[in-house]
Parts: sequence; structure tokens; C-alpha cells
Amino acid sequence: MKKVIGIDLGGTSIYGGLINEKGEVLKKASQVTGSQGGRTVVINKIMEVIKELIEGGKVEAIGLGSPGFIDVKKGEVLTIGGNIKGWAGTKIREELSKEFRGIPIFVENDANVAAVCEEWLGAGKGLDSFIMLTLGTGVGGAIFSKKSGIWYGKNYQGAELGHTILYPNGRLCTCGQKGCVEQYISGNAVEKTYLELTGERLEGKDIFKNYETDKNCKKAIDKFVADLGTYLISIKNIFDPEGIIIGGGVINSKEFWWEKTIDYYYHNCNNPKGTEILPAKYLNDAGMIGAAKVAFDNI
Ligand SMILES: [Zn+2]
Repeated sequence: MKKVIGIDLGGTSIYGGLINEKGEVLKKASQVTGSQGGRTVVINKIMEVIKELIEGGKVEAIGLGSPGFIDVKKGEVLTIGGNIKGWAGTKIREELSKEFRGIPIFVENDANVAAVCEEWLGAGKGLDSFIMLTLGTGVGGAIFSKKSGIWYGKNYQGAELGHTILYPNGRLCTCGQKGCVEQYISGNAVEKTYLELTGERLEGKDIFKNYETDKNCKKAIDKFVADLGTYLISIKNIFDPEGIIIGGGVINSKEFWWEKTIDYYYHNCNNPKGTEILPAKYLNDAGMIGAAKVAFDNI
């Protein structure tokens, strides 16, 4: 069976897997990204992960999911490079090809590879169309339909769902806009709300834990639920997809907010039926598996 390498490049860690045509992860490797070290450091770390995976075996291709606007044809990062210092403008394919000659390399946006993974093996399997929201440090978005595949937009800058605006003149976003969705439904959004309410910092997991006993924890989570629920209603009204899949690290705490969010959506949406809201099936491995699938699809 053919094997490829799938790489999930994040702001904190790089996870790689040797993956077969069934999507089984045969071997894993990881490195700390070293985001603050800049482009050369990060490229070298990616190479280390690939070298560890490639040892003693033949791979057909390498797929990589990266933060930022990605020109998938050229395999390079455009004007925005996410949380990695100096990442914008990096010619990923060209850099990696210097070391791994003769192995085809494919680069894709990180939210898109997560969606590809869900479409292949996870919650999106069999769906005619779906929108994927990845709630992590930031908020990633992907738009998929069977008919047209992944939506890129004219300049590979489409589907940036995290940077649609929820509150005019709201919280300042890393992208420079104010009030972006990302500032209200990402992993640290409840922490920000709690800080605004109390002037004190509390970790997200403790805010969730104290939902029943602390009124400010409750307020912070209720706001998250209302913001996410509201955003789901907008997505439903814009796309009317068969499914909306929610993934990313925030899913790990879903016992505290999932049902409330679905209730909010059903009670406030003009026409909530016909669109299923689903949790992603793959969390930690979604990036590497999706990146591997991108590689398989292109060879
Ligand atoms: Zn933004």
C-alpha cells in the first residue's frame, strides 16, 4: 500500500505522520515549532520531522497544512502567515524540495486540511456540503462542497471565517480588524471575557469547571455560547450547508457548552432545520491525516 507523509504545522508544535491510503497513521514524529525563531528555524524543524518519518521507507509524497493564506499551486505562504514569525512569503515547497529532491510536495491551508480529513474519514463523510469551523488559538474556516471541492476565493484568501466581524468596534484582532469572530469563539475567548468581567486571569479549564458555582464563569461561558450560536445562525443563512462541523482544541471541553450552543441555535435561528451541527471526529491527528489526503489526491 502506498504511503505519504502528512505534516500539521501549528504555531506551537509540528506533528507529522507516515500515513497509508486508508488514512492509518503508521508512525508519528513531532517537534516544537520554534515560531519566534523565524522562517529558517521552522523550516529546519519541519525537515527534522520529515527525516524521522522517512527513515528506511519509501514515501510517494509529502503533504503539509500551514497557517496563513496559502497559494496551493505554488506551495507558498502569501501575505498572512498566522502565528509564526516571518512566515508570510515563505516558499515552503521550494525550501523543502532542496532537501527532499524527487518527492512531490503539496501545501494547503491548515483549516482546509482539517476539513479534508473530516470529509475523508470523519464527520463530513458522505455530506454533500459542509462548513468547518476550527476553534483553537484562532478560528479557522473551510467551505466544502462535493461539486466544487474546497473554496479558495480569487486570491486564496477566502473562507477566513474567523475574521468575519461579530461586533463592530469590538476586541482588537491579530489581523488588525476590530470585533472579529475569532476574538469571541476561539480557545481563549472565555478567558478574555472573564478578564473583562473581573480584572483577573483564570485558565479556560477552571472557568469551565466553575460554571455552576461562580457567576462570572457562568457569564463568560454563556457569552461564548451566545456568540458561537449566533455565528452558526449566520453560517446557516449564508450557506445553507448540509452540515456545520466544529473542530479544534475547544472541542475537548464540549461537555460544558455543546448542548447549550445547539439549543441557542435552534431557539434563535429562523430556519434551523436541514443543517446538522456536528463535532469533528478527528482532533489532534486531523491536520496530518488531511495533509496526507491532499498529497494522495495530487499524486
Ligand atoms: Zn481578525
